[in-house]
Amino acid sequence: MKIICIGRNYPAHAKELNNPVPKEPVVFLKPDTALLPKSMPFFYPSFSKDIHYEAELVVKIDRVGKNISQKFAHKYYSELSVGIDFTARDLQQECKEKGLPWERAKAFDGSAPVGRFIGKDKFQTLSDLNFSLKINGELKQQGNTGNMLFSIDAIIAYVSQFFTLKIGDLIFTGTPEGVGPIAINDSFEAFLEGEKVLDLKIK
Ligand code: MG
Repeated sequence: MKIICIGRNYPAHAKELNNPVPKEPVVFLKPDTALLPKSMPFFYPSFSKDIHYEAELVVKIDRVGKNISQKFAHKYYSELSVGIDFTARDLQQECKEKGLPWERAKAFDGSAPVGRFIGKDKFQTLSDLNFSLKINGELKQQGNTGNMLFSIDAIIAYVSQFFTLKIGDLIFTGTPEGVGPIAINDSFEAFLEGEKVLDLKIK
Protein backbone atom coordinates (compact mmCIF):
# COMPACT_ATOMS: atom_id res chain seq x y z
CA MET A 1 0.00 0.00 0.00
CA LYS A 2 0.98 3.60 -0.34
CA ILE A 3 0.19 6.77 1.54
CA ILE A 4 -0.71 9.79 -0.55
CA CYS A 5 -0.46 13.11 1.26
CA ILE A 6 -1.82 16.51 0.38
CA GLY A 7 0.01 19.63 1.51
CA ARG A 8 -1.33 23.14 2.03
CA ASN A 9 -4.99 22.12 1.76
CA TYR A 10 -6.14 24.63 4.39
CA PRO A 11 -5.44 28.30 3.59
CA ALA A 12 -4.79 29.21 7.25
CA HIS A 13 -2.09 26.53 7.51
CA ALA A 14 -0.43 27.53 4.21
CA LYS A 15 -0.22 31.08 5.61
CA GLU A 16 1.23 30.05 8.99
CA LEU A 17 4.20 28.45 7.18
CA ASN A 18 4.49 31.37 4.73
CA ASN A 19 3.55 29.19 1.77
CA PRO A 20 1.37 30.35 -1.11
CA VAL A 21 -2.19 29.00 -1.29
CA PRO A 22 -1.94 26.42 -4.11
CA LYS A 23 -4.06 26.37 -7.27
CA GLU A 24 -3.65 22.59 -7.59
CA PRO A 25 -3.23 20.06 -4.77
CA VAL A 26 0.33 19.72 -3.47
CA VAL A 27 1.02 15.96 -3.47
CA PHE A 28 3.70 13.80 -1.90
CA LEU A 29 3.96 10.14 -0.94
CA LYS A 30 5.01 8.15 2.09
CA PRO A 31 5.95 4.46 1.78
CA ASP A 32 4.21 1.69 3.74
CA THR A 33 7.08 1.75 6.26
CA ALA A 34 5.85 5.21 7.34
CA LEU A 35 2.73 3.63 8.79
CA LEU A 36 3.25 3.39 12.55
CA PRO A 37 2.13 -0.02 13.80
CA LYS A 38 -0.88 0.19 16.12
CA SER A 39 -0.04 0.45 19.83
CA MET A 40 3.58 1.42 19.05
CA PRO A 41 4.85 4.73 20.42
CA PHE A 42 6.48 7.23 18.08
CA PHE A 43 10.21 7.34 18.73
CA TYR A 44 11.72 10.79 18.24
CA PRO A 45 14.24 10.22 15.43
CA SER A 46 17.86 11.22 15.95
CA PHE A 47 18.17 12.94 12.54
CA SER A 48 15.89 15.84 13.48
CA LYS A 49 15.64 18.41 16.26
CA ASP A 50 12.32 19.82 15.13
CA ILE A 51 9.64 17.20 14.51
CA HIS A 52 6.22 18.80 14.07
CA TYR A 53 2.75 17.28 14.34
CA GLU A 54 0.15 17.80 11.60
CA ALA A 55 -3.24 16.27 12.38
CA GLU A 56 -5.13 15.31 9.23
CA LEU A 57 -8.31 13.60 8.14
CA VAL A 58 -7.35 10.26 6.57
CA VAL A 59 -9.31 8.41 3.89
CA LYS A 60 -8.92 4.67 3.32
CA ILE A 61 -9.32 3.54 -0.30
CA ASP A 62 -11.33 0.33 -0.68
CA ARG A 63 -11.64 -0.04 -4.43
CA VAL A 64 -9.07 -0.02 -7.25
CA GLY A 65 -9.30 2.99 -9.52
CA LYS A 66 -7.51 5.14 -12.05
CA ASN A 67 -8.66 8.45 -13.60
CA ILE A 68 -11.62 8.56 -11.22
CA SER A 69 -14.04 11.38 -11.88
CA GLN A 70 -14.93 13.56 -8.91
CA LYS A 71 -18.58 12.59 -9.29
CA PHE A 72 -17.79 8.90 -8.66
CA ALA A 73 -14.94 9.37 -6.16
CA HIS A 74 -17.25 8.66 -3.20
CA LYS A 75 -17.52 5.02 -4.36
CA TYR A 76 -13.83 4.46 -3.68
CA TYR A 77 -13.81 4.88 0.11
CA SER A 78 -16.07 4.06 3.00
CA GLU A 79 -13.97 4.79 6.09
CA LEU A 80 -12.29 7.81 7.60
CA SER A 81 -9.96 8.47 10.49
CA VAL A 82 -7.44 11.00 11.75
CA GLY A 83 -3.70 10.55 11.38
CA ILE A 84 -0.58 12.55 12.13
CA ASP A 85 1.70 13.62 9.31
CA PHE A 86 4.90 13.85 11.34
CA THR A 87 7.32 16.23 9.66
CA ALA A 88 10.99 16.92 10.32
CA ARG A 89 10.54 20.67 9.86
CA ASP A 90 14.28 21.37 10.00
CA LEU A 91 15.03 18.88 7.20
CA GLN A 92 12.00 20.06 5.23
CA GLN A 93 13.21 23.66 5.42
CA GLU A 94 16.62 22.58 4.15
CA CYS A 95 15.00 20.61 1.28
CA LYS A 96 12.76 23.55 0.37
CA GLU A 97 15.68 25.98 0.32
CA LYS A 98 17.69 23.69 -1.93
CA GLY A 99 14.67 22.82 -4.11
CA LEU A 100 15.06 19.14 -3.17
CA PRO A 101 12.34 16.50 -2.63
CA TRP A 102 10.81 16.26 0.86
CA GLU A 103 10.98 12.51 1.47
CA ARG A 104 13.62 12.59 4.21
CA ALA A 105 11.53 15.16 6.07
CA LYS A 106 8.14 13.55 5.54
CA ALA A 107 8.34 9.88 4.65
CA PHE A 108 10.56 8.39 7.35
CA ASP A 109 9.66 5.29 9.37
CA GLY A 110 6.69 5.80 11.68
CA SER A 111 5.89 9.25 10.30
CA ALA A 112 2.27 8.29 9.62
CA PRO A 113 0.34 7.05 12.66
CA VAL A 114 -3.34 6.53 11.80
CA GLY A 115 -6.26 6.14 14.17
CA ARG A 116 -9.19 3.76 14.19
CA PHE A 117 -11.40 4.05 11.12
CA ILE A 118 -15.05 5.05 11.26
CA GLY A 119 -17.55 4.27 8.50
CA LYS A 120 -18.40 7.40 6.54
CA ASP A 121 -22.09 6.42 6.63
CA LYS A 122 -22.06 7.52 10.28
CA PHE A 123 -21.72 11.11 9.14
CA GLN A 124 -24.47 13.18 7.57
CA THR A 125 -22.10 15.09 5.33
CA LEU A 126 -18.38 14.89 4.68
CA SER A 127 -18.08 18.59 3.93
CA ASP A 128 -18.65 19.63 7.56
CA LEU A 129 -16.59 17.15 9.59
CA ASN A 130 -14.74 18.28 12.69
CA PHE A 131 -11.51 16.71 13.81
CA SER A 132 -9.04 17.73 16.47
CA LEU A 133 -5.77 16.98 18.19
CA LYS A 134 -5.04 17.24 21.90
CA ILE A 135 -1.52 17.02 23.27
CA ASN A 136 -1.23 16.32 27.00
CA GLY A 137 -4.92 17.14 27.26
CA GLU A 138 -4.58 20.56 25.62
CA LEU A 139 -6.39 21.31 22.36
CA LYS A 140 -3.75 22.06 19.70
CA GLN A 141 -5.51 21.71 16.36
CA GLN A 142 -9.09 21.87 15.26
CA GLY A 143 -10.05 21.25 11.65
CA ASN A 144 -13.23 21.28 9.66
CA THR A 145 -13.39 19.71 6.21
CA GLY A 146 -15.45 22.71 5.07
CA ASN A 147 -12.21 24.70 5.11
CA MET A 148 -10.37 22.39 2.72
CA LEU A 149 -9.27 23.95 -0.55
CA PHE A 150 -9.72 20.55 -2.25
CA SER A 151 -12.44 18.19 -1.01
CA ILE A 152 -11.87 14.47 -0.47
CA ASP A 153 -13.55 13.71 -3.81
CA ALA A 154 -11.55 16.41 -5.63
CA ILE A 155 -8.33 14.97 -4.17
CA ILE A 156 -9.21 11.44 -5.30
CA ALA A 157 -9.99 12.69 -8.82
CA TYR A 158 -6.74 14.63 -8.93
CA VAL A 159 -4.32 12.05 -7.55
CA SER A 160 -5.84 9.12 -9.50
CA GLN A 161 -4.71 10.77 -12.72
CA PHE A 162 -1.15 10.01 -11.66
CA PHE A 163 -1.40 7.02 -9.32
CA THR A 164 -3.67 4.00 -9.56
CA LEU A 165 -5.47 3.81 -6.23
CA LYS A 166 -5.39 0.38 -4.65
CA ILE A 167 -7.32 -1.20 -1.80
CA GLY A 168 -5.77 -0.16 1.52
CA ASP A 169 -4.10 2.97 0.21
CA LEU A 170 -4.43 5.94 2.55
CA ILE A 171 -4.87 9.58 1.71
CA PHE A 172 -3.80 12.22 4.24
CA THR A 173 -5.88 15.23 3.25
CA GLY A 174 -3.81 18.06 4.73
CA THR A 175 -3.54 19.79 8.07
CA PRO A 176 -5.38 22.82 9.43
CA GLU A 177 -3.50 25.59 11.22
CA GLY A 178 -1.92 25.11 14.63
CA VAL A 179 1.00 22.82 13.78
CA GLY A 180 3.91 22.81 16.18
CA PRO A 181 6.81 20.87 17.67
CA ILE A 182 6.51 17.63 19.61
CA ALA A 183 8.47 16.57 22.69
CA ILE A 184 9.44 13.26 24.22
CA ASN A 185 6.75 12.05 26.68
CA ASP A 186 3.97 13.95 24.89
CA SER A 187 0.66 12.17 24.85
CA PHE A 188 -1.46 12.60 21.71
CA GLU A 189 -5.19 12.10 21.32
CA ALA A 190 -7.03 12.66 18.04
CA PHE A 191 -10.79 12.95 17.61
CA LEU A 192 -13.18 12.69 14.68
CA GLU A 193 -16.55 14.33 15.32
CA GLY A 194 -15.86 14.09 19.04
CA GLU A 195 -15.02 10.38 18.97
CA LYS A 196 -11.51 9.47 20.05
CA VAL A 197 -9.76 7.54 17.28
CA LEU A 198 -6.08 7.80 18.20
CA ASP A 199 -3.95 7.54 21.34
CA LEU A 200 -0.23 7.95 20.86
CA LYS A 201 2.84 8.43 23.07
CA ILE A 202 6.07 10.12 22.01
CA LYS A 203 9.18 8.33 23.30
MG1 MG B 1 0.64 17.44 6.18
